[in-house]
Amino acid sequence: MKPFTYSAHPTRIVFGPGTLQQLGAEVEQLGGRHALVLSTPGQRGLADRCAELLGARAAGVFAQAAMHVPIEVARAARDEAHRLGADCVIAIGGGSTTGLGKAIALDSGLPVIAVPTTYAGSEVTSIYGLTEGGLKKTGRDARVLPRTVIYDPELSLTLPLATTVTSAINAIAHSAEGLYAHDGNPVTALLAEEGIRACAAALPPLMRDPRDLQARSDALYGAWLCGTVLGSVAMGLHHKLCHTLGGSFNLPHAETHTVILPHALAYNAAAAPQAMARIARALGGSDAPGAVLQLARRHGAPTRLADIGLAAADLDRAADLAAMTPYPNPRPLERTALRALLQRAHDGDDPVA
Ligand code: NAD
Repeated sequence: MKPFTYSAHPTRIVFGPGTLQQLGAEVEQLGGRHALVLSTPGQRGLADRCAELLGARAAGVFAQAAMHVPIEVARAARDEAHRLGADCVIAIGGGSTTGLGKAIALDSGLPVIAVPTTYAGSEVTSIYGLTEGGLKKTGRDARVLPRTVIYDPELSLTLPLATTVTSAINAIAHSAEGLYAHDGNPVTALLAEEGIRACAAALPPLMRDPRDLQARSDALYGAWLCGTVLGSVAMGLHHKLCHTLGGSFNLPHAETHTVILPHALAYNAAAAPQAMARIARALGGSDAPGAVLQLARRHGAPTRLADIGLAAADLDRAADLAAMTPYPNPRPLERTALRALLQRAHDGDDPVA
């Protein structure tokens, strides 16, 4: 075993069907008296339900969270928190809403309670993102790490099946890259393999019945583990490509992860054989990139960048951007190989090592 460093993040996890009912007690546990509830416009009803549960402890609802945390929305939410005298924030929804909670925490230090309803994993990371003038900047700051996470699988029963599949593969991507991270360790590797297994195993029953609560619980458990890996170790080529495609070409987050992952894994396969063996084992296959592609295909997920909004004319610029800044990755970044990878992902061709 190689020497390693591992820092556990001190988030309190409350897990199980119906745990949203404990929201008031969790606010109290944090010492909160006036909680601002955040959501997207589409999940306003859920935010209102939280405010109702909180009663006198609710300061108000801000239901304008949007993808990639536009700085204008972050400023409006910060102003609202200040105006209402909020002393804590509840972010109920997917990664976009969690991201807005983090933007408030970054500025004010207010504690965040996250109540995730997708499998994005942001709720257990200290990574934040803010988009200003079309550019998304990300960073890490301990202040933004949610203090408490309430994982109530009942809240994910409404997640549309298509989003369920891509969001679960988004989670798998965190663990897959975590398995070859230069700063990985035996603890994150255990979390990663189990997270991949749990997310993948939940999909067949969810295809049959999206309201299968046991499968929803398994997927959310997997998402928690995968998010923990994301928050603990450095990500590589796959996340860099997805960040570039999302940030510069406005591609949808979870779908982009789904299309890119088999190709990014194939790119790194020869340089990270042990990680590939663990990913394949967790997916019950023998070849990691192929097993991820099959998972997407079997569950009707997109497998072509062309189908999720990337024009062929943008491939050169995407390859330039992905190769521009150096970052740790098992295989060195070669612009020509990255351009070929993106072409295959664009056309929906099989991944090539
Ligand atoms: P999202 O939060 O944008 O949600 C997508 C849509 O689904 C939204 O309209 C939302 O209201 C809706 N939705 C969410 N849960 C639902 C449910 N249970 N039922 C019905 N509708 C529901 O998507 P996401 O994939 O969760 O998050 C993506 C964002 O999170 C990206 O901006 C990404 O960069 C960020 N992210 C950040 C981190 C981090 O560590 N900082 C990690 C992962 C993702």
